[in-house]
Order: sequence, then structure tokens, then C-alpha cells
Amino acid sequence: MSRIDEPTLADLEAELGRDGVWVAPALREVVTARDEARIEEAVADQPTPTYVALVELSYDDPLTGGRPEELAFLVRDDTGREGTYLLLGPRYDQSTYELQVQAFPDEYDLYPAPAVAAAELPQDLPGQVLRTLELLRTEEADTLYDELREQEASDGSGDGTGTGVPAPGAAEDAGSGTDVGVVLAGVGLVLALLAAVLLLRRRRPVPRARGTAFVLPDTVVRTVREAEDRRHEALAEEAVLALGEAIDAADLDPRRAGGLAAWQAALDHYDVASRILHRRHSAADVVGALVLARRGREALTAAVRGRDWQPTPSCYFHPLHGGARSRVRWDHLDTWVDVPACRDCEVAVARDVEPRDVLDFVEGDRPAHYFRLDLGAWSRTGYGSLDTDLLGALLRP
Ligand SMILES: [Zn+2]
Repeated sequence: MSRIDEPTLADLEAELGRDGVWVAPALREVVTARDEARIEEAVADQPTPTYVALVELSYDDPLTGGRPEELAFLVRDDTGREGTYLLLGPRYDQSTYELQVQAFPDEYDLYPAPAVAAAELPQDLPGQVLRTLELLRTEEADTLYDELREQEASDGSGDGTGTGVPAPGAAEDAGSGTDVGVVLAGVGLVLALLAAVLLLRRRRPVPRARGTAFVLPDTVVRTVREAEDRRHEALAEEAVLALGEAIDAADLDPRRAGGLAAWQAALDHYDVASRILHRRHSAADVVGALVLARRGREALTAAVRGRDWQPTPSCYFHPLHGGARSRVRWDHLDTWVDVPACRDCEVAVARDVEPRDVLDFVEGDRPAHYFRLDLGAWSRTGYGSLDTDLLGALLRP
């Protein structure tokens, strides 16, 4: 796991400018100098400008928050270099890799290429990079991606661990349980299912295959949900604490006065997030505190760089998804509205299916999408997706 500080970012940007490829020192044993030379050749042969930045980002990386696409945005913003960025996605299984693509201008149909490469060569990172570059040059990836999904649906191997293409249905059903109260039958089974579901919840959505869905027992749904709530609570506490420490440690250069408003925004976000966690709070508040802490972190990064900061809309379907990249039409409480969506949710809506990982909370015995519940400023602003001034909405009486 690596953190990207400003000098490292400057090195990375210079290196991408030279030959289009940067490999984190921590990945040197996995990607040798010879591998890198082959990747550089392949990058030079791509028909469009292409950049490969291989780093396993630490989740508490101050510049990116651990999100590979943020790294691409930083490099693009700093250097103005548009094109296709190939990055290493977060790893939920330490023996396998999966790449992510971020293109400028946005292109939403590139994701099959890294997914197919990950399915073919799950443990071979340099091989995956070369294969992804090859697939990006051809029309092959879409067909291969569909074949993989069909194959998994038919042989029942779609547990999300082997091929990188998740099985349809399972994660979606994790959010649709109804009753609770049945005694847990086997802790081992629950934990195994929990692990599978948590893994699947983080993966990209695929259309639901009719008639093949695997329905989880309600108790497992409840257990998964409680584990998810605890995970959010731990993440929020950690993020708020880390933000406070980063604010204390940050050096604000007085010559870069442009960052003063961003500095104030970082402090305000920290203050409100911290207060939420220190009083009685709901699961919805915890997600809100986490959103505020992440925004505070973005504001702090801007402040330290002497830049202004404006909050950007988060994904309407789940505020903890990557940032919104486009707007999609969605049936919100029986009215069609344009809502911001992350890449994965945009792909789902474009395919006319509900995004798999919509934020929901249990009300009574039933989970409901957060935007169908009355959660005050959280639901009113879509956690800052419909109204980006989330802090203002919270502080207004
Ligand atoms: Zn999303």
C-alpha cells in the first residue's frame, strides 16, 4: 500500500510525461524493469494518449482517499493531459489484481477491457496491463465480457473470486430482505456469505439475470447490514480522526492565500462531522459524517495546494461511491429527475437496471433506499448529490 505525497505526485507526473508509465516502488517485485519496458512500448503503440500508473493506494492516502480515479483526476488537473489512464483498483483478494480505466473526456464503455484481462490473468499484473491495452485497441472486449458472464451464470462459478466478473443477482438481494428474528444457524456459513456479499457489494454492477438470483436468508441480510453499519462507524471515526490530525499537521503557506476559504471549509467539515459522531447518532448520520470527513479532506488538500475548493456532487445512489461523473435520468419518488451518478451506477442505469449498491437503511423490519426515507438534510440533499452544499443544508435551521 502506498501514499502519494506531493513530491511523489510530481515524480509520477514527470514520468508519465516521459514514457507514459509509472510504477510505485512497492510494486517493483511484481512489475520488473523488463515488464515496464514492454508496457512502455505498448503504451507508445496505443492510438490515443495512454498513461499507466501502477500503485496500490492506501485507503488513508491524503491526496486520493485511496481512489484510483482520483489519482487520474489529479494528474489530469495538474498537467492538462487528457487521454486514457490505466490504474490499479483496490484489492479485496491479495492474490489477484484488477485494473481500472479512467478516460478524459469521459468514456463509460471501457470497463470490459480491464475486467476481461483480470479474468484471464488474475495474478499477473504486467500481463493484465498488456492485455488491457490490447483489448482497448480492439472491439473484442465487449464480446468477451458478455461471454464470461454467460459462462459464469451457466456453470454457477460466479462467486466473485475467480474471474473478476461477479455473478448476477447475489449482491442485489443482499439489500432486499424483509423479516428478521430467525436464530442464526451456523456462524461459519454466515461469515462466508458475509465475506462473499461484502466482496460483491464493492464490485461493478451487472444486469440482473432473471430467474437465476440466489436469495440470502433474512438473518444473513440483517447480519450483513449490521456488519456494514459497524464498518461505516469504524471508517467514519477513523476518517474524522485522520482529518483532525491532518489539519493539525498541515502547513498553510501564507503566500498561497488562495487556499484560505478551503482551509475554513476543511475546519467546518471536521467540526460538524466530529459533533455528529460525539452525540447520539443513527446509521444514516454515520454515513453523513463519513461524507463530511471525505469532503473536509478534499478541502484540506486544496488548501495546502493554495487552491480554492468547491464541493462536487457525490453519487446519488450511494454517497460513498466514487465521485459523480455524469447525470442520469432516474425515477425519484415517481418523478423523473436528473441525478449525478458514479461510473458504475451510470452503467447500470444506461442498461435500464437499478444500480446494485444503493444506500439503504432498515426502517421497521425492511430496508429502504435512503432517498425514500425522511432523513432530514441527508435525504433532502441526496447526501450532497442534489445540493452540493451539504454543510450549509445541515447548518440551516
Ligand atoms: Zn454510484
